Amino acid sequence: MITVVGSYNIDIILKVNKIPEIGETVIADEVYMNHGGKGSNQAVSASRLGSRVKIVAAVGNDNYGKNAIEFWKTENIDISDVKIKNNVSTGTAYIFVDKRGRNVIVVNRGANYHLTEEDISESLDGNILLTQLEIRENVVKKALKEFNGIRILNPAPAVLKDTDILSLTDIITPNEIEFKELVSTDDLEYGLHLLLKKVKRAVIITLGERGALLATKDGKRTLIPAPKVNVVDETGAGDVFNAALAVYLEKEYDLETAVEYANKVAALSVTKIGALGPKLEEVNKFLEEI
Ligand code: ADP
Repeated sequence: MITVVGSYNIDIILKVNKIPEIGETVIADEVYMNHGGKGSNQAVSASRLGSRVKIVAAVGNDNYGKNAIEFWKTENIDISDVKIKNNVSTGTAYIFVDKRGRNVIVVNRGANYHLTEEDISESLDGNILLTQLEIRENVVKKALKEFNGIRILNPAPAVLKDTDILSLTDIITPNEIEFKELVSTDDLEYGLHLLLKKVKRAVIITLGERGALLATKDGKRTLIPAPKVNVVDETGAGDVFNAALAVYLEKEYDLETAVEYANKVAALSVTKIGALGPKLEEVNKFLEEI
């Protein structure tokens, strides 16, 4: 089983002609909502690939929280360790998008920041742990410390204060921006050296259309390319990549094979709108085509 300890946000997307200035009021042309949050996106994407997935997350005692739980149920995710928090709202991201696709985002972390160490203490079973940085760092740290299995940290968004977290991580999966933020250097090899001194097993830097770089403690560096695809929407590619990586590691494939698979699944995901990954049947069809 894959255990995801992470966030849920309802994304409220407002399409506007122009992003408002301070004091200005604008009318939205269109409003829609998506299930989001890195924890939820990764859990759903992993479940769609056929793995057994449990989500450990907090939502508010409101309609958004209820909808999140219903959504996870329809996605075959184990929700027995989801916490419902009173007097706090479900995490919400307000996303304004203008005609040119530019955006401004305001996030109310809500229940995500009310998930505590006690909340997760009975929930840390499974073979693979997948966690990110949209919940409190002390909760991430506790999960990594107490989990018996392969621990994957997707260090997103790019803010990590307690670097002790790194030594509790087996595999870290930053994108290029998060990697630079973690190592504070533009020198790739030196950065990898710094990070590999801390994590237990490997660093995987995702490189967008170029695929991913797998770096292991024995000094091996492998650039694993992603297949060429027609890009429609790159949002959430990293989430799908992490989900697919976890799915293959759960099946006990080696790291290189798992990264190859993750590249393919994430590449397929950018050919469609939305941050959630493809279903297993679509992936299998795509694998036959490429
Ligand atoms: P993030 O979404 O976190 O910024 P990346 O942009 O590095 O992360 O993308 C994550 C993964 O998604 C990549 O490693 C790759 O496998 C896949 N991917 C992203 N963009 C493309 C693309 N244009 N073509 C093919 N694969 C892509």
